[in-house]
Amino acid sequence: RPRLLSGMQPTSGSLHLGNYLGALTQWVSLQETHDALYCVVDLHALTVSPDPAALRERSRATAAQYLAAGVDPSRSALFLQSHVPAHVELAWVLSCITGYGEAGRMTQFKDKSAKQGAEGTTVGLFTYPVLMAADILLYDAAEVPVGEDQRQHLELTRNLAQRFNARFGPTFVVPEAYIPKETAKVFDLQDPTAKMSKTSSSPKGIVDVMDESSVTAKKIRSAVTDTDGVVRFDRAEKPGVSNLLAIHSALSGTAIADLESAFAGRGYGDLKKEVAEVVTGVLGPVRERTRELLADPDSLDEILAEGARRANAIAGETLAKVYDKIGLVRPR
Ligand code: ATP
Ligand code: MG
Repeated sequence: RPRLLSGMQPTSGSLHLGNYLGALTQWVSLQETHDALYCVVDLHALTVSPDPAALRERSRATAAQYLAAGVDPSRSALFLQSHVPAHVELAWVLSCITGYGEAGRMTQFKDKSAKQGAEGTTVGLFTYPVLMAADILLYDAAEVPVGEDQRQHLELTRNLAQRFNARFGPTFVVPEAYIPKETAKVFDLQDPTAKMSKTSSSPKGIVDVMDESSVTAKKIRSAVTDTDGVVRFDRAEKPGVSNLLAIHSALSGTAIADLESAFAGRGYGDLKKEVAEVVTGVLGPVRERTRELLADPDSLDEILAEGARRANAIAGETLAKVYDKIGLVRPR
């Protein structure tokens, strides 16, 4: 079974429908075929200067949502990045073989630092991709599911692995991008040509996993559509209606063509009502289960501790090998 690693940042108290369909449901099925490790990358989230109380709450909430969606801790290691110190230790070593110019060419850094200005840009934001490389290389992950926005960072990870291996001898597995079979990309309900995003969508444009069903139904009722009144899938001409159809189809398993026939001659009100039912039918239980998990923080923390033990065992071994190869004297 190929080893696979993935994670999300705890940058919000709730994941959204895009995270659920684009990542979580995929993670759950990948457990069948892969030796998977799923982490909450809390150290990465420090790059957005979160409030400490919010960070603590969001880290547990993110882990709880992984579990509620079906990540099974008896099969996959579920852990918080900060519980495995080797991430930071390997990141330092890798930063010493990363070119300053090479890191400066990362487009995510260029975009974010341009927005924040030189004074608002931290060194952490600059070295973020090096920490991400450490996350991956510690576990000999053969495959890493990455969205388009992380592709360049994975390329850097591959380059660092190859560079290290060339200089110090075979050490790291060079990871491949895992290309998912066609996951639903979910668009913003208010701006259906932009992707639904934790940080750039307006609250009305996002379906949050932790929203009450009535709130979700209201957001879907107010989703932007068009004026021609025909329920038909056409991303270019009808992005709003197409988004609703794609969401329905991904969650209900009904083919889009069958949905078009079922809604022939009916209005957008009917479509929205049914989409809301399908969405709340799926997310409602996930939200409830998340609440139950959060109501018992001791059990949740025990699951995270167990995941960290498994992760530390693998990561510690890799780090020891690295320290030895680069010439650090090992303690007795
Ligand atoms: P941010 O705005 O902070 O980047 P995000 O909403 O883009 O947050 P991420 O934490 O970057 O969420 O992504 C977590 C996972 O969810 C990734 O695997 C990503 O590909 C997936 N994902 C994010 N948004 C969507 C979306 N709208 N549709 C499908 N998948 C998505
Ligand atoms: Mg993103």
